[in-house]
Amino acid sequence: MSDRLPGFSTLAVHAGAQPDPTTGARATPIYQTTSFVFNDADHAASLFGLQAFGNIYTRIGNPTNAVLEERVAALEGGTAALAVASGHAAQVVVLQQLLQPGDEFIAARKLYGGSINQFTHAFKSFGWNVVWADPDDIASFERAVTPRTKAIFIESIANPAGSITDIEAISTVARKAGVPLIVDNTLASPYLIRPIDHGADIVVHSLTKFLGGHGNSLGGIIVDAGTFDWSSGGKYPMLSEPRPEYHGIRLQETFGNFAFAIACRVLGLRDLGPALSPFNAFMILTGIETLPLRMQKHCDNAKAVAEFLAGHPAVSTVNYAGLASDKYNQLARKYAPKGAGAVFTFSLKGGYDAGVSLVSKLQLFSHLANVGDTRSLVIHPASTTHSQLDDAAKIKSGAGPDVVRLSIGIEDKEDLIADLEQALA
Ligand SMILES: *Cc1c(COP(=O)(O)O)cnc(C)c1O
Repeated sequence: MSDRLPGFSTLAVHAGAQPDPTTGARATPIYQTTSFVFNDADHAASLFGLQAFGNIYTRIGNPTNAVLEERVAALEGGTAALAVASGHAAQVVVLQQLLQPGDEFIAARKLYGGSINQFTHAFKSFGWNVVWADPDDIASFERAVTPRTKAIFIESIANPAGSITDIEAISTVARKAGVPLIVDNTLASPYLIRPIDHGADIVVHSLTKFLGGHGNSLGGIIVDAGTFDWSSGGKYPMLSEPRPEYHGIRLQETFGNFAFAIACRVLGLRDLGPALSPFNAFMILTGIETLPLRMQKHCDNAKAVAEFLAGHPAVSTVNYAGLASDKYNQLARKYAPKGAGAVFTFSLKGGYDAGVSLVSKLQLFSHLANVGDTRSLVIHPASTTHSQLDDAAKIKSGAGPDVVRLSIGIEDKEDLIADLEQALA
């Protein structure tokens, strides 16, 4: 064996997986079982007391899911990961470890529409208060910090317009405030951006999108960078204080640089319950094997489509960070040199009605509320995902009435352009 470290494409195929020790199966088997037999009473007690690692019950962990966790941790450069049922479940489980009722977290205003809803309404009912900041104005994050701030949440490539966030600048604000930076890396995937390399402490994903990649399975994942000191200042009692449900152990003291992933599993997933089905873990693992190939094709197609739209008379603006003229192009060159992702927006001169008409005329593009599928997708955010926002908030979050969002798939780019051409004619 050479002592070379495996590259990204090799990790995408192999990380975390070995031939099954009992059967020799080469693909990771689907361990479709709820529970696992203990060797003896002592073994059972040590598993329950967190003195040994092993399988107990699929709500807490499963061997198929464990391969997925190890693989994504390797791709993101983290110490450990926890797979859950959806991207939204990942966000709840992460913040439950960090916030007590009455606490605050700062979030970038440019986010997936579902996250804006979750933060504004569901989290408010838990007593967790979101404070919005503008990812294009780093000082707005600094101004938002208070003694109750427990975390900062951003997207690396941000919905809906595919804008690029200056992760390093915001990580400096987080460090100064003594709080972890959480980066939702769904639209970039680790193939394009590895947020931990730029100062993120926690990475979350909706596996439903590019990582799974085929539009067939929901999932979410949390990656622990292992970088944050949870014991400082008593701000994070879930990690630093004795846990009554585990004989008084302190998670940070016991698990060191993967304590956050453990907290998410043994306090979050165990008690809140959003476990990922092993079947979905298998589907997503299969998707990840081709992530580097797919992601490059997604990006190359997106750039070609963005260039076509930028030259079309019915189009007023195209927001794609991969275009040299785009305001995020500098950030794209720095953070995502292989490509600026495949989700972006453009505006139609004909406004709201033209947006609605376009989505109804497209044939190859599917009109639906998802991104990161092999198929090309289209949506008019103002009448769908962002319809709950008022006009000012729609415009602020990049989803004004004239805006159409595309998620470019891996078909032939000529066919995608031809479909847009006929629908715009
Ligand atoms: C889809 C999405 C989510 C939510 O993920 P689900 O798997 O649908 O729960 C969160 N963040 C981003 C950026 C997304 O695209």
